[in-house]
Amino acid sequence: MKYLQTEGLVTGSRSYSEADKLLTLFTLEKGKVPAIAKGACKTKSKLAASVQLFTRADFQLYMGKTLATVTQGEIKTSFYSLRYDLTNYAYGQYFCELVNRLLEEKEPFPEVYQLLLTVFEVLKNTELDMELLARSFELKLLSILGYRPYLDECLVCSRESDFYRFSYQEGGILCAECSLGSPGSQKINLGTLSIIKKLLSTKYSRLNILKVSPSQKKEILLINKKLLNYNVNLGSCKSLVFLEELGALPKVT
Ligand SMILES: [Zn+2]
Repeated sequence: MKYLQTEGLVTGSRSYSEADKLLTLFTLEKGKVPAIAKGACKTKSKLAASVQLFTRADFQLYMGKTLATVTQGEIKTSFYSLRYDLTNYAYGQYFCELVNRLLEEKEPFPEVYQLLLTVFEVLKNTELDMELLARSFELKLLSILGYRPYLDECLVCSRESDFYRFSYQEGGILCAECSLGSPGSQKINLGTLSIIKKLLSTKYSRLNILKVSPSQKKEILLINKKLLNYNVNLGSCKSLVFLEELGALPKVT
């Protein structure tokens, strides 16, 4: 099967030469696929619109050994507004970068596809708290990929407690006693813990009903960053640095 017909989202797009664009496509059928769109930089190209960053389209791809070639693209949703608002653009780019980094090539992942598509759809809604949206996306993404943090009780002794520490190594919470053997853990208050659980279970469109203080937001950002770092190296995540520079995200280390 040399030709593949599939729906996909453009999660990476950059000029490769004067005429061509190099893309990362997240396709429903084959997962992440690196692709080239020949001639897409030319204004008269039929492909130009369908290979813009964030676009959802039906693609026809010629599957080469390492690189696919886009032969046709028919737009389903352009997500135009994400490209023309700097904050939305920065968040959209960050979500794409996380997905691109966390997924292997050519492994289909329909649940992650749906998660990314849904976040693009709600990202247009400027009423939403972008920070909470991003934290919820990060947690849901980690969860789908099998890194859901264990948050119900101490993961060593299974006891409920009024005091927990979060362990990145163990991927969950530990009571005071059990955390003694886990020096890398950090204190987490019960209110923050309950918000993290809600961020995992609440629909994006309903995130605004959560009451979250700035200090809790910082605490969750730090936890998510460390959780992600444990699985991907976020240190070189350009879109995250861009969000910090925009002032959309507090710098925490
Ligand atoms: Zn314990």
